[in-house]
Amino acid sequence: MKHPDRIALSRRGFLGMAAGGMALAGAAAPARAQKVATSARIVILGAGAAGTAMASRLVERLDGATITIVDGRKRHLYQPGFTLIAAGLKPASYSVSSTGEWLPRGVEWIEEAAAEIDPEANRIVTTGGKTVAYDFLILASGLKLDWDAIEGFDMALVGTNGIGAVYAGPEQAAATWGAMDRFTDEGGKAVFFRPATEMKCAGAPLKYTFLTDDYARRKGSRGRVEIHYAAHNKSFFSVPIVNEKVRMLFDDRGVKPSFDHVLKAIDPGKKILTFATPEGDREMDYDFTNVIPPMVAPDVVRNSPLPWQDGPWVNEGWAEVDKETMRHVRYRNVFAVGDIAGVPKGKTAASVKWQVPVAEDHLVADIEGKLSPAVYNGYTSCPMITRVGRAMLVEFDYKNNLTPSFPGVIAPLEELWISWLMKEVALKATYNAMLRGKA
Ligand SMILES: Cc1cc2nc3c(=O)[nH]c(=O)nc-3n(C[C@H](O)[C@H](O)[C@H](O)COP(=O)(O)OP(=O)(O)OC[C@H]3O[C@@H](n4cnc5c(N)ncnc54)[C@H](O)[C@@H]3O)c2cc1C
Repeated sequence: MKHPDRIALSRRGFLGMAAGGMALAGAAAPARAQKVATSARIVILGAGAAGTAMASRLVERLDGATITIVDGRKRHLYQPGFTLIAAGLKPASYSVSSTGEWLPRGVEWIEEAAAEIDPEANRIVTTGGKTVAYDFLILASGLKLDWDAIEGFDMALVGTNGIGAVYAGPEQAAATWGAMDRFTDEGGKAVFFRPATEMKCAGAPLKYTFLTDDYARRKGSRGRVEIHYAAHNKSFFSVPIVNEKVRMLFDDRGVKPSFDHVLKAIDPGKKILTFATPEGDREMDYDFTNVIPPMVAPDVVRNSPLPWQDGPWVNEGWAEVDKETMRHVRYRNVFAVGDIAGVPKGKTAASVKWQVPVAEDHLVADIEGKLSPAVYNGYTSCPMITRVGRAMLVEFDYKNNLTPSFPGVIAPLEELWISWLMKEVALKATYNAMLRGKA
């Protein structure tokens, strides 16, 4: 076995070893035992960050299992790189690899999307009509960017008409950089915002606001640039102490805030954004914007019995899992990891890293007829870029406690070069190690 002691390491012990020490800390799980013999059929739905990490780990943990991963996407996308691409610091290719190169030997890859999940019958059906039966199902489908929910948005226009879309993909992130570069040369009005739904990497809209401000300053055009940030509720960030820091930085940098603004429509010809506000619709003209759409569960999960049946996430469709074990509340042989999981924090690669070993440990314990003590504490992390070469390494848990991986060394709310290096250099190495099941 390759990594017999990895989950028994203390958090700082692990971080000391990690590539560049990328701060991806979290819950502890018990020490590894020998491979477990089983004939269990395990289906993993989605071969992105969470699905691939899970496949890599299960192959190391189980002997004799049939592990099938289902995903029609041929490209693996390292999404944390999109912000760097959209800042002109990396080419689009920085985030692109192939799905196949990360999948471990011993896993069968069905190169089709899943079209239907039937958790009563313990089977899924692919878009090509294949039925795959399972004993355990791992949902790792990520989320759906709901571009259609924004009236007037046209993906083909990204990079033109002052439209950016950092979330859309590496090519669109590169086109966004082109638009931001022109905007910070010419000047005008930039309007940034975030959706009202749950979202992946909730710090990314803020990072891009800071980066645009920074480029305008570097180019000497800041005097000709107006920057607005329209928050979807009454704060910029869900963790109060981080929100306060962002408020101070926005104040310092001259970013003009609005609150309770949720984007409804864009008119690319007239360059107008329409926001729903408590006082009714408000139009804001713009010369540059970064469109971020609502985020919801992919249809295959939304149309299944697996989403929350009541509470705040009914319309968004996230899988109804226990927030500590990632196990489905009603279907005990189903787990959800990554962005699809209906838990109150997460939706970052850093969360994936700590959710996957917990779900894995509970699944293996089921096979062994044991109970696993592994718990996910909500750890998530956001290297909040505040300018090129500076970031704040914000890490927190379900309780909004700051959980710094390097207490006394890296202050979470300081704009530091070392925290920038975490994002710019170390994060990708650690992400890749996670895909291999090694981090
Ligand atoms: C702009 C941006 C910046 C980010 N910055 C950071 C950061 O700094 N730090 C950080 O930790 N995280 C960051 N993230 C978030 C991080 O990338 C995601 O949280 C992470 O990729 C989630 O992993 P996942 O496996 O759940 O989803 P994904 O990696 O998106 O993978 C989901 C997979 O499921 C597949 N799938 C979808 N539907 C189906 C279906 N019906 N059948 C089969 N397969 C399906 C997809 O094709 C895809 O391959 C950022 C994300 C973005 C967009």
